Amino acid sequence: MHPSTRVIRAGLPPVEQGAPFLPGPTFAAPYHLAGDPTTSSYTYGRFHNPTWTHFEAALAELEGGPALVFGSGMAAIASIFGAVLRPGDIAVLPADSYYTTRLIATGYFTQMGVQVRLAPTAGNAQIEHIKGAKLVWLETPTNPGLEVCEIATLVEAAHAEGALVAVDNTTPTALGQQPLVLGADYSVASDTKALTGHSDLLLGHVAARDAALLDPVRVWRTQIGAIPGPMEVWLAHRSLATLALRLERACANALALAAFLQRHPAVLSVRYPGLPDDPSHPIAARQMRHFGPVVSFTLADRTAAERFLASCHLISEATSFGGLHTMAERRARWGGDAVSEGFIRLSAGIEHVDDLLTDLEQGLNTLSAY
Ligand SMILES: *Cc1c(COP(=O)(O)O)cnc(C)c1O
Repeated sequence: MHPSTRVIRAGLPPVEQGAPFLPGPTFAAPYHLAGDPTTSSYTYGRFHNPTWTHFEAALAELEGGPALVFGSGMAAIASIFGAVLRPGDIAVLPADSYYTTRLIATGYFTQMGVQVRLAPTAGNAQIEHIKGAKLVWLETPTNPGLEVCEIATLVEAAHAEGALVAVDNTTPTALGQQPLVLGADYSVASDTKALTGHSDLLLGHVAARDAALLDPVRVWRTQIGAIPGPMEVWLAHRSLATLALRLERACANALALAAFLQRHPAVLSVRYPGLPDDPSHPIAARQMRHFGPVVSFTLADRTAAERFLASCHLISEATSFGGLHTMAERRARWGGDAVSEGFIRLSAGIEHVDDLLTDLEQGLNTLSAY
């Protein structure tokens, strides 16, 4: 079955006469529970929820391994660090990962006695630092630099050293790339982005190669309480059915915008793994089903980037990506990433491509006078 078909029914319970396809959200703190708690699948709302169960079944189908949903992408990421890393352990992270991932590793987990090694994503450079590691963290493509590494190659090297491998799969989603199928132990994502795609909720998940690897992550979620609300999870499951449709349009738009940006004189450089001449393309084409909605490009400086963003009518200035609406931002306004002052991260939405190209062109043309 095609993944784009699978995603429409993923996680739905068997059809039943008179019942909805996707049951509504279950709002419960305690469940009625008389006597021995082991006789009930549902006991207390921090442990489990039927709305999570359906969505997690969907994620497991898409990822190829059992999954747990979390209240945000960072809650999911922290759960792997918390479940796997102990004082004295070595963790290898991308130097160009999502900023907050590096921040909790080099902040909190370093203070707790974990040794963190950072190396760039491009050129599989993390492979040189794996010796003696407990956990190798990958992010491919990276946010916001869109660098790519070869998951299977890094997994092989890490497993030879006895290390576990986790991949932040946020940018492509499980429909675009399956880290578990490529050998990784954990696939983790912020579902705030393209997976749910409507810019109306925060959510994350962890999927694991097997149930034994997921167990300590479940204990962490239950004890720390990094749980999502049932309404968010229900909205996420509802949004999942259109994932393939949304990505098809958004990725086609991203490619068209990237190709246009490459030809415009005001643009100094463009990155998109789907461009045939992008340095990420050869590896991306081997391990990804689509190249994601995110494009990055560089304008002359901060003034040019701010002027461009202010001139766009359709392209909204916002952080985050993977939503229905095309958005862009000057990434250096946050600090933390090694990007130039004129660097823009653009997330292609699902508008008609002609309207996006028109807006992009008029926005860039305001820079020619400058
Ligand atoms: C947004 C993002 C996160 C964090 O997700 P939240 O849902 O905001 O907590 C982690 N990794 C990547 C690659 C992201 O883009």
